[in-house]
Amino acid sequence: MDMAFDTILQTAVLAVEADPNDKYRYLCLCCKEPVYVAAAEQKVQVVHFRHHKGNNGKENCENYIPQPGQSIRAPKSQGNNVSFYYDDAKKLFYLSLCFDEDEIQEHKSKSEHLELRASYMGQPFYICPIDFTYFSPNIASHFPLKEYSDSYYVSFQNGEKRHKYKLFNTGNPAFFKVLGDVESNFIAKCIQSNCLYTDTLYFMVFPEDEVLIPFLKLVEVIKQFHFNTMGRSFAGVLLQFQRKNDDIEYYLNELGYRLETSETLCILWPPMVRIDDSLFSDANEVYISTSFRLRPKSNTNASEHEIKQLPEGVACIARTEDIRIHYKNAEAIIRSREQRTANQLLPIEQKSETHFKIPDSMSYWILHRCGTHMLCSGAEVVLLAGDKIVGYKQTYPLQRVMMPSEGPLEGQDLLKDIQQNYKVNIPYDADELMELELSQVAIEYLSKCKETGFINKKVKELIESGAI
Ligand SMILES: [Zn+2]
Repeated sequence: MDMAFDTILQTAVLAVEADPNDKYRYLCLCCKEPVYVAAAEQKVQVVHFRHHKGNNGKENCENYIPQPGQSIRAPKSQGNNVSFYYDDAKKLFYLSLCFDEDEIQEHKSKSEHLELRASYMGQPFYICPIDFTYFSPNIASHFPLKEYSDSYYVSFQNGEKRHKYKLFNTGNPAFFKVLGDVESNFIAKCIQSNCLYTDTLYFMVFPEDEVLIPFLKLVEVIKQFHFNTMGRSFAGVLLQFQRKNDDIEYYLNELGYRLETSETLCILWPPMVRIDDSLFSDANEVYISTSFRLRPKSNTNASEHEIKQLPEGVACIARTEDIRIHYKNAEAIIRSREQRTANQLLPIEQKSETHFKIPDSMSYWILHRCGTHMLCSGAEVVLLAGDKIVGYKQTYPLQRVMMPSEGPLEGQDLLKDIQQNYKVNIPYDADELMELELSQVAIEYLSKCKETGFINKKVKELIESGAI
């Protein structure tokens, strides 16, 4: 078949335009199983998508041709947005999984559970219902890996197909791409393809004590360290490949990888907020500088008329929906902020406190007049009027703490407040208020008025209305 669904660009693409190095990026439009680009380097056969071995289901997918004009949506319920990450601050590997709103709704209506296993036949190490409490639409949920395994299995229901995702390869290193430019406490995303790039920061990890790799002297090693997680020791190296050369390529080929010269992508305007691997912006137009030409349905989901090519490799993309660009190692997902706020479906717990001790269950931030800063767990914070403490789980606000608001003044306090701030007195006529049923506060006040012969105009109005 010559078309498949691209899980990165979230649209259907042609095999000739697809990346032959990424074995798990594309899904069959018919049966939704993963397919890969075949015959990319052959002259005899036309480039096409093919199912992985043993995966060509009941349907005759290879002959499936989408109808012209048929809208192509993301295949559902396959958990195709599964990735592995490494969190250096916590020395933790985790699996990340993302659903859109319809997918969560569909799983919820069938009361389905997510199950994660470290072996095909093993007991799940994680089970949770798929609903809006555990998952937020289009926001990745993270599941720490508690048991070590080469591969992990994701399923949505007992007995249903368990999807395999490979993380480690015994004896060989796994490569993770470091997100952002930080060298400590970084987050790195596992590389799914067999292609590595120059000038890119990688975290190379071995599920062993020792790093037995001869090519380390050929690359720029930023740091080397050991850590323990999942009851096992790991050796990690933070490195960059500066340039392609035969020696490095030889060693990488032995490990099953190829090295390519990197491509670059730079967002010129507007400034954006990064959360995980997505950027957020309200702008309708985004200016991007790329080392490659943007090609609709090949390296971007933007269409021809949404891209305006400007000189010097700069392009302006005018698009109201998510912009996705992916070419070799250059990638960007740009999403609108409205979409993010619309996703806030989890209830936020509201608390009224004057003192608040920061729990360690979430990350807490204080928003006050002078700005915003993060709060350490265990810290005791005194809240002032207007201060707001927000507790976030991942990127999601779940708790809001504010100073208890003072109720409206009443009785003696209200009377005092008016006398201090509204000083208009008028002659007092005792007969006028005779008919009313008076409160104790009013009776006492009026007895004083009788002596002075004057009454506060505002207090009189409030006595008449029964507010005092
Ligand atoms: Zn198929």
